[in-house]
Amino acid sequence: MLNIKKPRGTNDFFYDSSKNLEFIENKIKNIVKLYGYGRIRTPLFEYTELFTRGIGEGTDIVGKEMFTFEDRGGRSLTLRPEGTASVARAYIENSMQNEFAVNKLFYLGTMYRAERPQKGRYREFNQFGAECIGSSSPLIDAEIILLNINILKEFGIDNVNLLINTVGCSKCKPSYNNALKEAIGNKKDELCETCQRRYDINILRILDCKNDRCREIIKDIPKFYDYVCDECKEHFDRLCEELTRIGQSFTVSNTLVRGLDYYTKTAFEVQTDALGAQSAVLGGGRYDNLIGLFNNGKDIPAVGSAMGIERLLIILENQNNIISERLDVFIAAFKETENEVLKIMQKLRANNISCDYGFSAKSIKSQFKYANKRNAKYILVLGEDELKKGMCRLKNMDSTEEKEVSLNDIHSNIEK
Ligand code: ATP
Ligand code: MG
Repeated sequence: MLNIKKPRGTNDFFYDSSKNLEFIENKIKNIVKLYGYGRIRTPLFEYTELFTRGIGEGTDIVGKEMFTFEDRGGRSLTLRPEGTASVARAYIENSMQNEFAVNKLFYLGTMYRAERPQKGRYREFNQFGAECIGSSSPLIDAEIILLNINILKEFGIDNVNLLINTVGCSKCKPSYNNALKEAIGNKKDELCETCQRRYDINILRILDCKNDRCREIIKDIPKFYDYVCDECKEHFDRLCEELTRIGQSFTVSNTLVRGLDYYTKTAFEVQTDALGAQSAVLGGGRYDNLIGLFNNGKDIPAVGSAMGIERLLIILENQNNIISERLDVFIAAFKETENEVLKIMQKLRANNISCDYGFSAKSIKSQFKYANKRNAKYILVLGEDELKKGMCRLKNMDSTEEKEVSLNDIHSNIEK
């Protein structure tokens, strides 16, 4: 016997959990349409350089979370750990800048990170991401934040904390890094081992450390806002203004940097109590210097976000906030009447009525039991006597009302 289990940190979604995922994805697809986004699908794997260069060598993702392997020709490939680098590559590779001045793209799909699995943290997980490329206006930063908050609202999640920060641009980041080095300097030895290394290679990463002691040390660090250039300040001020104008509350967090190196100016994250330890349901920010990497150094401004679908699923399941679709009709038949089943179901489906049969004419009692388990709205009983008259019995499972209806006219007796 082969005893094979799924790889660590992966999930099988089926029946309710897969229906719930689909419910989430469909709702998101409908909402993003209202904001003018078009779907983009990029490969599940890319050349490794895309991520090492795009996300940044000093990040956790590149340092220890990527699933990397060689193809037969010895080129290094990596399962995508996030979506933005791929979208940026695809944008340039397909010259999308020639299509529209501003491109709004969204993705829904799996990402892969070799993390320590726990609730809400998996090695294969789904993200919804929105990327808007081509505009440097803070208005679009505000819109992308609102899009994400509105999605949460549509799912009945109102109690969220929106954190925002400015992380500066290529011009002013270095002066903030220096200030940070100085501020942390004499406490460097007290940092966790990883952060001691981060201090030298990528000091901003310390702000993203989850270690309690490190968090304590960075509590009183200098504020980004006091070090960023005038352009970044104006951008941030305008973003705050727009959010306030629209009535969206937020908290400015001086330590918010996010786990990816490409962010410039705006960084944001949405947290909720409903999630416990993994409190972030989505994050994002502006990445004005990422596209230049693939475009001969010519930068194109952009902003994006990524939401963890499994975290959303956890919140919704905890709140019993999932309304999955019901089966309209379940058919119960006898051996003698089974020949009619497929014909009847064809007709119902042609009338947009979902239906199913147990595909084994067991006792009527067990077929009723099964119909109940399937949460069908109606059960249609094909009895031999009724069938001879061109009729069948239709029972409404909610009201328990039962009536005889003509086989030619079942659909008009079904309330959707
Ligand atoms: P975290 O701080 O929780 O590790 P992150 O900073 O790595 O998150 P991003 O890379 O910005 O997160 O991804 C955006 C969202 O994707 C997160 O807010 C979270 O909801 C989800 N996410 C990230 N990593 C995982 C994972 N391993 N499993 C499930 N969801 C994840
Ligand atoms: Mg992470």
